[in-house]
Amino acid sequence: MDFEHDLEKIWAPWRSHDLIAEGYKKWDCLFCGLKESKDDEKNLILDRGETCFCVMNLFPYNNGHLMVAPYRHTSSFEELLPNELAEMSSMIQKEISILKKLYNPNGFNIGMNIGTAGGAGVAGHLHWHIVPRWSGDSNFMPVIGKTDVVSVSLSTSYKYLKEANEKYV
Ligand SMILES: [Zn+2]
Repeated sequence: MDFEHDLEKIWAPWRSHDLIAEGYKKWDCLFCGLKESKDDEKNLILDRGETCFCVMNLFPYNNGHLMVAPYRHTSSFEELLPNELAEMSSMIQKEISILKKLYNPNGFNIGMNIGTAGGAGVAGHLHWHIVPRWSGDSNFMPVIGKTDVVSVSLSTSYKYLKEANEKYV
């Protein structure tokens, strides 16, 4: 038995996380980097609007953990413009609707960690978290922003979510 080879296969999904994470490192700001990036599939970007976009969390708390961020680099919620707020709300609504259909969760956590003290992983650039929840999957809001890796193939989830985003009316 080729143990090394089997081990590599088992760990392949995790390794692909690392490869993407490595790609992210070249950016000063994760969300500005994602905004400018060209390969949406590689970067797990699900939707691009006029003022904001939606991306899968590379280190999800739960399957289907998404983030919605404005294109504009800002850390102040109170400085968001009405059209940015409105479009982000619509985008969150759309993703909740898609996640409900695809994953049938029992609930959601929708939240924003503001500032390092608030638990923000990328404190300079505001972003909403959308976390589907299932009964018994443990904990509550404080989990948002932590990097508990879930054993799930992100590329498979991406495929289904992207397709649903494109079909959404
Ligand atoms: Zn930024």
